[in-house]
Amino acid sequence: MRVIRKYNGYYTQFLIDYEREEKKELTGKQTGLDVGLNYFYTDCSGNQIDNPRFLRKDERKLKKLQRRLSRTQKGSQNRQKARNKLGRAHLKVSRRRNDWACKLAQHVIRSNDLVAVENLRIRNMVKNHHLAKSISDAAWYRFREWLEYMARVYGVPVIAVEPAYTSQNCSNCGEKVVKTLSTRTHECPHCGYIADRDENAARNILKSALKQLSNKETDKKSINGLI
Ligand SMILES: [Zn+2]
Repeated sequence: MRVIRKYNGYYTQFLIDYEREEKKELTGKQTGLDVGLNYFYTDCSGNQIDNPRFLRKDERKLKKLQRRLSRTQKGSQNRQKARNKLGRAHLKVSRRRNDWACKLAQHVIRSNDLVAVENLRIRNMVKNHHLAKSISDAAWYRFREWLEYMARVYGVPVIAVEPAYTSQNCSNCGEKVVKTLSTRTHECPHCGYIADRDENAARNILKSALKQLSNKETDKKSINGLI
C-alpha cells in the first residue's frame, strides 16, 4: 500500500497479487492496426477510429493554463493558484484519456483472436518529454498498455512487428509501391489492388505478424525434430 499526493488530494493505492482471467469466445477474426496522423488507428478491414475530439480540446486548455501560469510572478499567491489549476487540469485530462484508451483496447481484444501492431518503441518516446509532442502520442501509449493488459486477461495474442515498409509494400502482391506522405490511396500498378493507404499498411502489419508466428512454429518444429 502506498499513499500518494496529487493536485486534488491524497490517494491510497493498494497492490494486490491477483491474476485476472476473463472468458472469451473465439471470433474467427484477426486484425492489424496502423497508427496514422489523420486517425487514431486504421484496421485491416478499413475501419478507422478518429482521434477523440476531447484530446485537441484538452490540449488547448492545458496550453492556456500553462501560459497563465508563466505570466504570474514567482513566489506569489497567484502563481500557487495557477499551478494548482494546471495540475488539476492535467489530472482530469489524463484520466479521460486513460478511460477512453482502456475501453477501446478492451473492445479490440474482445472482437479479435489475434491483434498485430507496429512496434514503435513508444516507451522510449514518452520517457523523453520533448519527443512526447502531443497528447495523442500519450493516448496511443496508454492504448498500447491497455492492449497488452487486456491481451493477458482475455488470452488474445498481441504481436508487435517492426514498422519497416508497412506503408510502402502492396499487401496483396508484396511489390514495393513508393508513396509520399500525402498519397492517401494505395494503387498497385503490379496487381491492380487499390485500398486506403492506412488500410494497406494495417494489412501488411497483420501479414508480417502472421509470418513472425509461422517462423516461430517452424523453429520449434525443427528443434523438436533434432531432439
Ligand atoms: Zn500489388
